[in-house]
Amino acid sequence: MRAMILDAPGEPLRAAEVPIPEPGPEQVLLRVRACAVCRTDLHVVDGELPGPKLPLIPGHQIVGTVVRSGDRAKRFPEGDRVGVPWLGSIDGTCRYCISGRENLCDAARFTGYQIDGGYAEYTVADHRFCFPIPDGYPDLQAAPLLCAGLIGYRSLRMAGDAEGLGLYGFGAAAHIIAQVARHQGRRVFAFTSPGDAEAQGFALGLGAVWAGDSTQPPPERLDAAIIFAPVGSLIPAALRAVARGGVVVCAGIHMSDIPSFPYEILWGERSLRSVANLTRRDGEEFLALAPRVPVRTEATPFALENANEALNALRDGDVRGAAVLVVS
Ligand SMILES: [Zn+2]
Ligand SMILES: [Zn+2]
Repeated sequence: MRAMILDAPGEPLRAAEVPIPEPGPEQVLLRVRACAVCRTDLHVVDGELPGPKLPLIPGHQIVGTVVRSGDRAKRFPEGDRVGVPWLGSIDGTCRYCISGRENLCDAARFTGYQIDGGYAEYTVADHRFCFPIPDGYPDLQAAPLLCAGLIGYRSLRMAGDAEGLGLYGFGAAAHIIAQVARHQGRRVFAFTSPGDAEAQGFALGLGAVWAGDSTQPPPERLDAAIIFAPVGSLIPAALRAVARGGVVVCAGIHMSDIPSFPYEILWGERSLRSVANLTRRDGEEFLALAPRVPVRTEATPFALENANEALNALRDGDVRGAAVLVVS
């Protein structure tokens, strides 16, 4: 099969022909249809996340069809369209797993990081961590739901019942979550890189009530903010933008250092928290909700061979919505 391979962090991916993987007893073999590109893929490829499997096939927002199943993996019939997310396996026995927090599992393994992912024509995945893809979503539109949508949704849940919601960084996750937030009756304030009029226009087109530069204060105090951009200096900015009792949620897996800030912008029972990974429950809830909104994802397609171009476009902020590798 054709695959894009990371040999060492900091190097471009290499196009290669490798054997089609064999499914283990709990795995399904999938023909990959589409794999969305996540900012986390960039952090892996750029070496900002330690210790990836090497060589590695990146990609953890995979839509594929079941080709064959392992002996104990009979959940999906052949031909079913399934999604593979970031959470690839857990131990099921640690204190996090037994308390409903499998996203924090001591021994979790992640797709496209410790397990080969979807930048390839085929992949294998543990059937217990796959999701059925809702009917009506073309592959290209479904793929970004699997991380941008799903982790965005977990972040939105952590924002509680906030009515005025700030979104910092208006890329793949924010463009999905803005639609969900609006559906829930919230008011969305979109913050972009200074002067990014195109992203601001995109946000307003998706129902944001205000869009502006991240260096600017919003026109009114917010109840919560979610930071999707990997920029630590946004944390003090977001704390200043939320009202007393407000929450600032950091949705990314990696961020530049946070500058020091005066305690008074945290005081007043503001809270600051991160969101890590996903639980399968998040996935089930979000994939049931997405068609009811309905979430319409904007995807920029790239051929599998052009995965490096897709990563570069994401790094440069040149992608509207989500970048998606279209494999077949
Ligand atoms: Zn565990
Ligand atoms: Zn991701």
